[in-house]
Amino acid sequence: MKHIAILGSTGSIGTQALDVIKANPTLFKAEVLTAQSNASLLIEQALLFQPQLVVIADESKYPEVKKALAHTNIEVKAGHDALCEAVVLPQLNIVLTALVGFAGLKPTIAAIKAKKDIALANKETMVVAGDLVTALAKENDVKILPVDSEHSAIFQCLVGEQSPIEKIYLTASGGPFRGKSKADLAHVSFKEALKHPNWVMGAKITIDSASLMNKGLEVIEAKWLFNLAVEQIDVIVHPQSIIHSIVQFEDGSMKAQMGLPDMKLPIQYAFTHPDRIISDFPRFNFLDYPQLSFEQADTQTFRNLALAYDALRKGGNMSCIINAANEVVVAAFLKERIGFLQMSDIIERCMDRVSFVENPILDDYFETDKQTRIFAEELI
Ligand code: NAD
Ligand code: MG
Repeated sequence: MKHIAILGSTGSIGTQALDVIKANPTLFKAEVLTAQSNASLLIEQALLFQPQLVVIADESKYPEVKKALAHTNIEVKAGHDALCEAVVLPQLNIVLTALVGFAGLKPTIAAIKAKKDIALANKETMVVAGDLVTALAKENDVKILPVDSEHSAIFQCLVGEQSPIEKIYLTASGGPFRGKSKADLAHVSFKEALKHPNWVMGAKITIDSASLMNKGLEVIEAKWLFNLAVEQIDVIVHPQSIIHSIVQFEDGSMKAQMGLPDMKLPIQYAFTHPDRIISDFPRFNFLDYPQLSFEQADTQTFRNLALAYDALRKGGNMSCIINAANEVVVAAFLKERIGFLQMSDIIERCMDRVSFVENPILDDYFETDKQTRIFAEELI
């Protein structure tokens, strides 16, 4: 039996993780559920899964959750610091980080220090501080199990391999604006950007997918998860999202992992690795997809992907800058305060202007995140 904490249980990944747990009650137990502010869904989940602890990060919602669960044995806590307390419960084996953004960093570090394996959905943590997080995981003998579909694909392709990787190809759907020109993009609305062709996900990652920042963040995430040089990471647009990513070895052989786009599979694999368990997830049929196609990513139009490669090449705190700037511009785009193309402009200016730190320690990342948010807000 694996005892699991889900940070962000009310979100897209969190609810799918609970579906996986519900389908396998003899293998998995949800012990901790947390949400930012969706009290009603958190309460509903708590009553169904009977975890030991729930955390509502938004403290104003605490009385509502506390009252609804008063007749149960479930402990209720509130506030962001409580996330760090929640991940250290002794019975936990795995912490699934399914919350959004920089907010994932602190609880992920707390969980690693408490020697809990991390099922990593929260890619922003790796983008911000991949160097420190991977070193800390090694030091504590903790596994980081990728949940992001591309990274799960690479991880699955590497099972049983001793030989070095020559390179990897991360596949990208291209998002809802694939093939569009800059002129087309100047006036797209957030509602259009939220219509992803293949995946239903939270708002932030859906906008990131439309702007190709998601793929940029994934390039950085891959660097740290698989210990690769920038030149070893390539991106290929594959609009059908059937091949989830590819590893190329030194003899030229390539291994790909494929299947229908369904996040339940990588979530479940992170929970069961190195084993697989029987599932009733829908099966892929080749004849439904007589053509799988591939094309080059358009980094002239979608500059975020190029900016992410720049950040990785520059190193230091540059990926932390790009992440913070991106979180601010995505929130601003969702509120119609800026247009689609302005997102990349503002990110680039933050990369030029926020103080560069060559060899950051953890405090530098918190400071960089803060400074970048202030500067990005000024630009907006
Ligand atoms: P979502 O917006 O649907 O859900 C986010 C969850 O985290 C919610 O439960 C929310 O209450 C909680 N949360 C949000 N901000 C928080 C904060 N500041 N503090 C505490 N809790 C907070 O997001 P999602 O689509 O499930 O994505 C979650 C993470 O997984 C992201 O890092 C995303 O990049 C990654 N991811 C998602 C998918 C996907 O298919 N949705 C795929 C790959 C990776
Ligand atoms: Mg992905």
